[in-house]
Order: sequence, then structure tokens, then C-alpha cells
Amino acid sequence: METITQKYPLVENFIGGKFTSNGQEKMDVISPLDGAVLSTVPLSTAKDLRKAVKKAKEVYPAWSAMTIKERVQILYKYRELVLQNLEELAQLVHEENGKTLGEARAEVAKSVELTEFACSLPQMVSGQIMEVSQGVECRVERKPLGVVACIAPFNFPHMVPHWTVPNALALGNCVILKPSEVVPLSAVRMAEMLQEAGLPDGVFSVVNGGKEIVEAICDVKGIEAVSFVGSTKVAKIVYKRATSNLKRCVALGGAKNHLLVLPDAHVDMTAANVVASMAGCAGQRCMAAAAMVAVGEVDHIIEKMIDEAKKLIVGENLGAVISAAAKKRIERYITQAEKAGAKVLVDGRKATVPNKKGGFYVGATIIDHVTPKMKIAKEEVFGPVISIIRADDLDQAIEIENSSNYGNAAAVFTQNGGLARYVMEKASAGMIGVNIGVPVPREPFSFGGWNESKFGVGDITGESSIEFWTQLKKTTTKWNPEAWTNWMS
Ligand code: NAD
Repeated sequence: METITQKYPLVENFIGGKFTSNGQEKMDVISPLDGAVLSTVPLSTAKDLRKAVKKAKEVYPAWSAMTIKERVQILYKYRELVLQNLEELAQLVHEENGKTLGEARAEVAKSVELTEFACSLPQMVSGQIMEVSQGVECRVERKPLGVVACIAPFNFPHMVPHWTVPNALALGNCVILKPSEVVPLSAVRMAEMLQEAGLPDGVFSVVNGGKEIVEAICDVKGIEAVSFVGSTKVAKIVYKRATSNLKRCVALGGAKNHLLVLPDAHVDMTAANVVASMAGCAGQRCMAAAAMVAVGEVDHIIEKMIDEAKKLIVGENLGAVISAAAKKRIERYITQAEKAGAKVLVDGRKATVPNKKGGFYVGATIIDHVTPKMKIAKEEVFGPVISIIRADDLDQAIEIENSSNYGNAAAVFTQNGGLARYVMEKASAGMIGVNIGVPVPREPFSFGGWNESKFGVGDITGESSIEFWTQLKKTTTKWNPEAWTNWMS
């Protein structure tokens, strides 16, 4: 539905270096901060996707024939543009996603770091050569895959596309981005800035939409690899569908991250870190603390956490959640837990911001005496809510952590190195923190969880992603006559 009150121009697809719209069905883009209509986004069809694939295939031979050193020159320029426009990009993330401006600035700064990693790829993909028998050489080179697609979620509109797009481009692929339809504005600026940096038309495209376009990406001929970041439910669908169509796929899913807090943990630091982890970005991070396993007597830390949570004021240092439906879902989890016998120590239900009545806010919430069988202990809430589960000892705490279907992150808070080491060894998660509430491995280390938090081989960022976006070409040569009768002849 077209709206006349929107703040930003109509979002269009970016295909062949041009913004185009084809009269597709449209959806309003709503700011979670106050419910205002920011823009409208097209819900594209397979036909739109096929156009982007066709354009990408046309330019792929020239793009992939450039050297990687030439390709990353464009990314160096792009990085400069992102830095120069950081404030504007952060404002956009703030408005379309609802996180605080400070969090949005940190998100865009992380996109810069991810682009820097892509710029460093020429130093990491130099290939190999060896004389394997007299006069016979084997050489191994990394080659791009062709046209690839990246599907993103709503919670990091700028950063998650930067997990994949710069690396895939630097390595010589043409990329089609499908942003979340609820936060499509950052991707528009990404396309504009890549073009301004000198990226040839058609090498990068943006195709907007929801389920239909994701399914088309999994099905269409000509897309060789698909990266997905989103909920586990959809990650499973995408992984199965893309691989059944013989595409390479890595699909990152949801999370339920457990922080194990031991009685000897540093009180102030632990309380501040646990609350920051559960409430940062309004709890809408796949690395957010969702469950705190209280090992033995840690009430002194919980008391401090209550003080920390009360310092968070919605609309000031605690952002909005993405939609009215998300607010309702989060509050429902809290109410269900309370009914099931848990004790709400800090209650974020009914939070409102006086001058932003149309916004979607949930206050920081701490719930104690949650049991592992409760719905809130098992499912992803994706809001500023932490469930405290009591454990008698460390082995029971590890058992609780291990029983989760997810496995993105886990952390331990203690001052005992031996116990920390034990948790590092036993936790069933891909990213482990010791006295760190959000243990994101920064570049060049890779990002990716275990269990139902990730499907596919390898991680989505860092060195691990090089394998995903490339294939190896092995060439064996001989030029000298004395090797003509070699057993390989
Ligand atoms: P989502 O799964 O609803 O959507 C992700 C993408 O899939 C979007 O582009 C959306 O348009 C598309 N989509 C939605 N439903 C679909 C369907 N039925 N079929 C095909 N495509 C569909 O996720 P979201 O709500 O945008 O993001 C939040 C989720 O993402 C959380 O579960 C969070 O934990 C997860 N996440 C995970 C990571 C990670 O690294 N593991 C990072 C960020 C977010």
C-alpha cells in the first residue's frame, strides 16, 4: 500500500546498477521507535530475481577476471565512504531497527572492520605450488563460485550483510543480497556506496521481499551458493531447499545462550556484563545472554544485576524491539514463566516511552527460579529478558547448557582458571566467553555456532568463509622433455 507520510523514498530493487521497481506488491517499513512509516518495500517475485541473476551472469566473467588486488581497491574506497557517512548510516539503522544510536554506531563500525578483513584477503589466498615429481608441478588456486546470494535478518541491517558481501565480492563472486523486508533501508545505502566506490554495475544487486524471494533464491538456476542468517526455523528450510537444489549453503539460526555464573565471579563486572549482554540491542542479538545458570550461592551477584537492570531506561539507553508482535511475544513468555512458578525480579512488561506512544518497547526483565523444563528456558525469546536457572554444582550447570537445542554462544564468569577451562571444554557451543558476556570472535577469527544455531560446513566470516566463497583449481604442468616418460604421462 502506498503511503504519503513516509520519511524515505520508496525502496526499490537494485539490479544492473539501477534502482528499479516493477509494480510489485508493497509493504510499509515501520520504525520501531515510534511506529512511523519510514518507507515502503517491494515484495519481489522470482521474475525480479531472475533479472538480477541474468545481469550478474553477464558481468561475472569480467569481474572474476580482475585480480583480487584490483577488486579490493574498490572495497578500500567503499570503507572510506562508510566511515565518512557513519553518522548517517547509524541514524538509519537506529530508525529502521529501533536499537539505540550508540548501538547503531557500533554496528556500522563493525561493518568497517568486516570490510577491512575483506581488503586483507589478497594476503591470505596466494595459493600453492610444488614440484610433485621431477619437472612436474602442481599449482592450487582459489577461484570464485559465480553468482551467490546472501539472505539477512532484521537485527543487524548493516552489519550482517557485511559478514558476507565484502568477502564474497573480494573473492570474485557476483552477489545478490536479500535484506530483511522489515529493515530494507541500510541495503539501499550499501548499494549506492558500493557503486560510488566503483563497483561495476550488476556485480552487486539487492532484491527485496520475504518468503517468496527466499524460496526463489533456493530454487533458481544460476545461483551457486547461499548464505542465510535468521531464525532456526527458516535456516532449516533454506538449508534443505538450497542444498536439495545442489547449491552450497551455510545457514545460521537462532540461539539460546547460557552464561554460567560461579560464586567467585567478580561481582560488579559480572553483573554489568550479564545485564549488558541480555539487554544490549534490546536482547535482539543472536549472541545475547538468554539464560543465566546460577551455580551455588550467587545471590550477591543477582542483587547487583537488579541494580544494573534498573539503570536501563527504555527509549534512552534501551532501544525498541522490532514490532508490536515481537513485544507481545516477549511479554507472553514472561507471563507464562510467572504462571509456571518463576519469580519476576525486574519486570519490563508495560514499558512505554512518553513521547513515543506508537513505539514497541519492553523493559529489562530478570526472572529467577526458571526451571529447564519451562518454555522460556527452552525457546528463543529474543528480547531484553534473562532467565535465571539455579544449579547445585558446575556439572549440573553444564548439563543444563548442553541440553539446549541451540549452541551459538556460552560463557562462564569466574576468577578460577581451572573451572573456566573446564567450561571451555564442556560447553556445547561454537563461541565461548570467559568473563565476556558477548563473545563475538573478531576478525580474522570466524563467527558461527553449533547444533541448531548453524547448518553447513564452516563459519560465515573470517578465514573460514574463504573456503565457502571459493573453489580450488588444481593444475598439473610439465614442460621439460626428461619428464615426458614420467609415470604420470
Ligand atoms: P527470520 O528467520 O524470520 O528471517 C530471516 C530472513 O528469512 C529474512 O530475510 C526473511 O525475509 C526470511 N524469511 C522469513 N520467514 C521465511 C520463510 N518462512 N521462508 C523463507 N524465508 C523466510 O529471522 P529474523 O526475525 O529476521 O531475525 C531474528 C532471528 O535471526 C533470531 O532467531 C536470531 O537469533 C537470528 N540471528 C542469528 C544469527 C546468528 O549468527 N546465528 C545472527 C543474527 C540473527
